[in-house]
Amino acid sequence: GADGRLLDVEAIDAHYGRSQALFNVSFDVGRREVVALLGRNGAGKTTTLRSIMGLNTVSQGAISFEGNRISGRRPHEIARSGISYVPETRDPFSLLTVEENIMLGYRDGSPYDLKRILSWFPDLAGLIQRRGSQLSGGQQQMMVIGRGLAPGPRLLLLDEPSQGLAPVIVKMVGRVLAELRGEDLSIVLVEQNLNLALSVADRIVVMENGSVVDRLSAEEGRRHPERIERYLTIH
Ligand code: ATP
Repeated sequence: GADGRLLDVEAIDAHYGRSQALFNVSFDVGRREVVALLGRNGAGKTTTLRSIMGLNTVSQGAISFEGNRISGRRPHEIARSGISYVPETRDPFSLLTVEENIMLGYRDGSPYDLKRILSWFPDLAGLIQRRGSQLSGGQQQMMVIGRGLAPGPRLLLLDEPSQGLAPVIVKMVGRVLAELRGEDLSIVLVEQNLNLALSVADRIVVMENGSVVDRLSAEEGRRHPERIERYLTIH
């Protein structure tokens, strides 16, 4: 992604009541770039995504998207400006079909219609009339990523897409993310699965206790995984 910065997270703090969850977190995302946020449970990864989306208030610092300040705006305004958030819970609307679940997010002018989305998720193509509740965990994950893509975002925030999935399905999620590389799309990927992150990310941001503790290219991460692993395993 050489043509400029898409997202700037500048020295943000965030709190839950009186407890501080983020301390001076900064990183940026370029156009068509995949940035992985890695760290243990409680490191602040989800809070960072929620802060970008406007679901958590930022108490210090600022977040800009395409040069415009988005921190302080409402989540639906942030969504409309071109950011989609796919939370970790991946709850489908169980009474809606796969097609309805995906197309809930569709907006006029989106480059991603159902056909296009299904081209990345061939496993869903035969299931579009099933109800969301009738899918396996991996199929639900594909479906909620599809729903995130439907509005045509330029930035996709993905919270632990590998969570709870069998290794073979995790590989499939990795392949889907790799295929999205051809789109005018950037991704912030929260992960605890280091291999998945290293296989799809351009850059890695490592978090611990609400702070950014390291930043590296995926290339550096592949050469020195121990630099990241020590922030993932418990000592
Ligand atoms: P996980 O993968 O478990 O979600 P994470 O790196 O995404 O971990 P966060 O969920 O962002 O971490 O949590 C950061 C800190 O904020 C933790 O100390 C957590 O206990 C706290 N926290 C998160 N959500 C809440 C909440 N709703 N109320 C109070 N504290 C919270």
